Amino acid sequence: MPKSSPRPIPPALPCRTDVLISGAGPTGLTLAASLRRLGVDHVLLDRHDGVRPGSRAAAVQPRAMEYLDRIGVGAGLALEGRKGRGFCLHDGERPLLRASYDGLDTPHPYILLASQQTTEQHVARRLEELGGTVHREHRLLGVTPDFPGITATVAGPDGVLRAVTARYLVGCDGLHSTVRTAAGIAFPGEAPEQLFALADVRLKPGAEVAAHDDTTFFLSGAGLLLLSPLAGGLHRLVAPVPAGSAAPRAEDVEELLARRGPADGWARAEEVVAASVYRAQERVAERFRAGPVFLAGDAAHTHSPAGGQGMNTGIQDAGNLAWKLHAVLTGAAPGELLDSYHAERRPVAARLVAFTGQFARAATLSDPASGRLRNALLAAAATAPGVTDRLARTLAQLDIDYSREPDLGAPRPGTRVAPLDVPPDGLRWTLALPGPDTSQHGHRGKRHGPLTVRHVPDLKTTLLVRPDGYLAAAGVPADPCDVAARLSQYLPLPHPQ
Ligand SMILES: Cc1cc2nc3c(=O)[nH]c(=O)nc-3n(C[C@H](O)[C@H](O)[C@H](O)COP(=O)(O)OP(=O)(O)OC[C@H]3O[C@@H](n4cnc5c(N)ncnc54)[C@H](O)[C@@H]3O)c2cc1C
Repeated sequence: MPKSSPRPIPPALPCRTDVLISGAGPTGLTLAASLRRLGVDHVLLDRHDGVRPGSRAAAVQPRAMEYLDRIGVGAGLALEGRKGRGFCLHDGERPLLRASYDGLDTPHPYILLASQQTTEQHVARRLEELGGTVHREHRLLGVTPDFPGITATVAGPDGVLRAVTARYLVGCDGLHSTVRTAAGIAFPGEAPEQLFALADVRLKPGAEVAAHDDTTFFLSGAGLLLLSPLAGGLHRLVAPVPAGSAAPRAEDVEELLARRGPADGWARAEEVVAASVYRAQERVAERFRAGPVFLAGDAAHTHSPAGGQGMNTGIQDAGNLAWKLHAVLTGAAPGELLDSYHAERRPVAARLVAFTGQFARAATLSDPASGRLRNALLAAAATAPGVTDRLARTLAQLDIDYSREPDLGAPRPGTRVAPLDVPPDGLRWTLALPGPDTSQHGHRGKRHGPLTVRHVPDLKTTLLVRPDGYLAAAGVPADPCDVAARLSQYLPLPHPQ
């Protein structure tokens, strides 16, 4: 028998670091890859021995793809997924409303249908390419304050307890976050009773047309059925089921398709590849920061998975926090910059939980008369100008902004700068200057300290764009040395200096 090659010896767990990240799901991996790209010293640990299998997130939204592009993950991931074209609401055969991603102003005008596992593998691979690592089979057990940071107790695979001292700790450790509990941060919200069945299925030939390009919600008198194309020729089916139901078998899937799906009887399942039941919780952490401790991803917010938003929101939490940690740890920004993480990301999470909760409740109405009224309202809304476009932008997460100013048509700090307008340069700041590019630097732009300078022909005023793609300031001086020297003036500080 050929000898198997020995497993590489994992690096020893450092006892001191700038940023300790607990949890290597999509949020922790994105944060670690970002910090690695920025050159920030960190330690990423996870209690499991590898990327977890199982059917969870199945879609990467355009806004998350835009951030993943910045850390060098987007292009490779886009090649592996299937490109869905939007969301659709149906009543049996009758379309009620369609939110298409086709015309969105993003380099990724589609829902990337890729399993969470695939997404995590791509980010983990990128982290490795950048020279980073995940300390697998390391469980964070507890945290004690150790001014100005913390000391965490970590159990390794050998059962030995080790102490890791860090200036900052980020809990990316999911719904049942140990970090959140240790920091005493409340996680208020609800746990609705409604149980959902989830099945990843291979439909019989011919039946794929039921949801070929769109994630489709069938809202019939018999109840909700979500049918979404997945990578690998599969479809995901999600449906509310009575309390006590077990994971759906092939015959349950057939019945759900026949009673709630496109047309009586013709959409048939050939194979159930994975099945489970779950109950969604709707919660948002009271604080996303408590001193040196931060929460990100499911540790900070959880909601109904309908609409495919959770993992995407965690990826963007990581994007918001990474450059701020870098700026503060390098002395380029005051410590208060880190308060803007809570100020910017918590309202996003609260709005998301409210939106997905309302949608889930409307989609699962049990009274037939209310269901008919809902469907009539949806069909009417679809004909109102701009409604479906706005819905597509919301689901694609392109409408997220941190602006505190009313929209009067001028560029507002805190709003997204479309990468098609001002192309990013990794996790660097971008100074966009109006006018044609006469430099030799082409699409890479010219680098000045922390800034990349780009010329954008149709721009009306200079724009300073943050490393996470949001506008820091408009109308700033055109001299990059001047802007770089005054960068701290353009930070989203609670009380501008
Ligand atoms: C059925 C289902 C369907 C979903 N569908 C979608 C979808 O279509 N789109 C979408 O965007 N989202 C979806 N989600 C949500 C998505 O799966 C989560 O939002 C996402 O996993 C959150 O990522 P995270 O990294 O924050 O947390 P997690 O993925 O939960 O990762 C947390 C990590 O922390 C580790 N950990 C926990 N405790 C410790 C500890 N004490 N020490 C060390 N490590 C620890 C865990 O091992 C884990 O690896 C779905 C979820 C479910 C359940």
